[in-house]
Amino acid sequence: MSSSQAGGGGPGGRYHATKPSSSSVQTNLSFEIPIDDDSKTSKSNTTTKLFGDDKKQLFDRLSFVGKPAALRKVLDVELKKGDCIDEKTKAVIDAFLDGAKKDKASSVVIATGTRKGGKNNNNNNNNKDTKAVVQEIAIGALPTHVSRHNDPSGAHGLQEIAKSTCGDAGKTRRVVVASDDENDFGSLVTALTRAYPVFSMKSKSGGEKKGDEETKQEPMVVVLRGASEATAKKAKAISEAVELACRMVDTPPTSMDPQGMVDEAMAAAKRVNGVKTQVWRDKELRRDGMGCIAAVGQSAATDGREPALVRLTFVPKGVDASERPIAFVGKGISFDTGGLSLKVGGSMPGMKADMGGAAAMLGAFEALAKCSLEGTITLKQPLELLMCVAENAIGSGAIRNDDVITSYAGKTVELNNTDAEGRLVLADGVSYASKTLNATHLIDMATLTGAQMVATGSKFSGIVCNDDDFESLAVKCGKVSGDLAHPLPFAPEFFCSEFESKVADMKNSVKNRANAQSSCAAQFVYNHIDDEWKEKGGKWLHVDMAGPSTHDSGRGTGYGVGLLVSLVEELNK
Ligand SMILES: [Zn+2]
Repeated sequence: MSSSQAGGGGPGGRYHATKPSSSSVQTNLSFEIPIDDDSKTSKSNTTTKLFGDDKKQLFDRLSFVGKPAALRKVLDVELKKGDCIDEKTKAVIDAFLDGAKKDKASSVVIATGTRKGGKNNNNNNNNKDTKAVVQEIAIGALPTHVSRHNDPSGAHGLQEIAKSTCGDAGKTRRVVVASDDENDFGSLVTALTRAYPVFSMKSKSGGEKKGDEETKQEPMVVVLRGASEATAKKAKAISEAVELACRMVDTPPTSMDPQGMVDEAMAAAKRVNGVKTQVWRDKELRRDGMGCIAAVGQSAATDGREPALVRLTFVPKGVDASERPIAFVGKGISFDTGGLSLKVGGSMPGMKADMGGAAAMLGAFEALAKCSLEGTITLKQPLELLMCVAENAIGSGAIRNDDVITSYAGKTVELNNTDAEGRLVLADGVSYASKTLNATHLIDMATLTGAQMVATGSKFSGIVCNDDDFESLAVKCGKVSGDLAHPLPFAPEFFCSEFESKVADMKNSVKNRANAQSSCAAQFVYNHIDDEWKEKGGKWLHVDMAGPSTHDSGRGTGYGVGLLVSLVEELNK
């Protein structure tokens, strides 16, 4: 089907706070990629100069983050050799590392000098802004001990100390992330990226907060010490993807409406060579039987904000396009009012984040395609992304409770809760991915249930899987990537009956809300996966990331990017 964009971008009031760029993305961080030397005996130390000939610090803030053992090695090479820092500073650093706690991150900031404002040391006299800037060295020690369900890299500690260690915008900053284990860099970089969200609509003068918004931010230079060239490139791709997912989640729903999400996907597709795109809008969705996405998006569509199914396809070099793919299916509800089952009692704010699954999957898809092209991740099969995009609005055109709709699987659904719309849009997506795309592995990701937060909290997603090995792999990849995942029960024989309907194949919400709600939501999605595909051993993983997709602050976290990259990398090993 050809793409039809008609009707999507029209109505007034729509604005773009950030336009998707089809060339570059990264804005807050700038990665220094090491070049592996041919001998492979040592990872070359790329080196930005840290001190001038006059021994003055060339960056306002020099930060070093890692576990104490890795930090000691790096500091010996970068700071303590030579006489650029004085004995007193060296002693403070040593004492701090000696006293670092095993199970908690800690940091120290040491003032090393003062300069007047301006961009660098050489032109401070003709700069109007003469605010004094204190030059500093900061050390952040990550915990060496974590519990068995956590990511051993200590990335959760980095999340806590990133701001204090790496400093505010408006300064020139360079941060060295050090580790002895190459596997750590993905999750460490993810944690660092999360700490520096890019989206802001604060006015320049009105903001009370100093720092980020008032000063044009210079990218922080990030050095991954201990990483090979390939690892650093991979980490950079993950960081860019996390930033993309966070920005999409943070953008207000009038901008990041269905058309905004389609625009983001098209821009991402342009940034990577060889990505094919296909877009269904209202007319095509109805024509091809994607009745659930069309129904959920129906009210907004009457006002011109049509739903969409966005498909991106990447076929790696040397792989036949007819090979069975790995498929991602993401929930992309640009805003969720609950529909006629309206969210009352204060649960509506924050619902711009209801597209976090689709956003993370878009980011992961772009990162994987990029890494495949760069040769840092080997993909042996095609990659498919389906973003199920709709705004769940309220209006006279909205789907009603008691309505019966038909999914792409040909199954009928009686609506008893229009706020259980995520599973509806996913139903069409997983059906298409199994029946039509015949994926070997089908992963859906969604901010699906509030019950997930009760079950596994704000750090762990709740996963439901029809295969032991695939589930174990997902848990393992959660620990590697820092996007932690914890299994919930998969048992269709117990959960199917929750959806019994007198007039249709099933209802869309459960009878008993106290019976494993998150597993039941997954069950509904599973009901629409092609039966033949299941019988032939198709592997399905459902990731409910309602909790970890946003910080307590309401900011997006980009949860899911790292998990998916790690998972696909493992599946292709
Ligand atoms: Zn909802």
